[in-house]
Amino acid sequence: MSATIIDGKAFAAGLRARIADGVTAFRTQAGRAPGLAVVLVGEDPASSVYVRSKGKATREAGMESIEHRLPADVSADALLALVATLNTDPAIDGILVQLPLPRHIDEQAVISAIDPDKDVDGFHPINAGRLATGLPGFVPCTPFGCVLLLKSVLPSLSGLEAVVVGRSNIVGKPMAQLLLRESCTVTVVHSRTKDVPAHIRRADIVVAAVGIPQMIKGDWLKPGATVIDVGINRTETGLVGDVDFASAVDVAGAITPVPGGVGPMTIACLLRNTLVSAGRREGVAVDE
Ligand code: NDP
Repeated sequence: MSATIIDGKAFAAGLRARIADGVTAFRTQAGRAPGLAVVLVGEDPASSVYVRSKGKATREAGMESIEHRLPADVSADALLALVATLNTDPAIDGILVQLPLPRHIDEQAVISAIDPDKDVDGFHPINAGRLATGLPGFVPCTPFGCVLLLKSVLPSLSGLEAVVVGRSNIVGKPMAQLLLRESCTVTVVHSRTKDVPAHIRRADIVVAAVGIPQMIKGDWLKPGATVIDVGINRTETGLVGDVDFASAVDVAGAITPVPGGVGPMTIACLLRNTLVSAGRREGVAVDE
């Protein structure tokens, strides 16, 4: 039997349309558009592509996109000064500093300098703490998108066994927190885990965020499992995920493709976080 293919591209398009409606309502009430500032340091080609598509999606949703492009040799002080200016700019609701930053800049120091209430990427330690303690804040976009996709195919996540493969601050750890918030029983496996397949075989939900092409094989999966593949790996044959789609699709109950699964959700959730931020800052109710 072949799994249901979770169409992240279509889901994200629907979400973006709902956000655009929310932006229209916000503009009427607040008298201005939500503003997202994106800071790009250097000329990394992948980062430039991401920043361009974020800007385009932001404008298409009816928001202001303010891009700051800084040279690769910009000083940490100059970058921190720009962040401080954006923190106090009333027209800016969200600040995103595109990662990775050049090696001479301390990424954590820059993330920590962003006003947590404008940290629409959800990477600030205060927002990580808010997520862990159940307080309202900003949740990192990629794992948030994964939860929306899971809910699109599962009537309830409560009580399900979930295995998250990877423990990065931007995907694995917040993913685990979000699944816990949904009352899953959560296991996080990583490079030091003794027997990764044994854990995955127990899972009703598998979220793969490893960065190893096609690592997770179909015969590691519990039949009927829901598989969310966060991985984006460029190979000679094109983009592939962390899951071996060809073998997994015959075992899983539902699975995201790569591309067209989780990827499109990330920008849609960034727009959602920016609208939520604007609503909180202006005291305007927006659909969360
Ligand atoms: P990181 O490299 O930061 O983290 C990878 C994690 O995988 C680490 O926790 C590492 O463990 C773990 N790992 C490595 N090897 C193994 C192994 N053999 N078995 C089990 N775990 C292992 O990656 P990210 O979290 O940033 O990204 C993961 C993937 O998701 C990448 O392919 C990336 O391109 C993609 N991505 C996609 C996004 C999207 O929008 N769709 C957004 C962000 C990322 P340890 O901690 O022990 O080193």
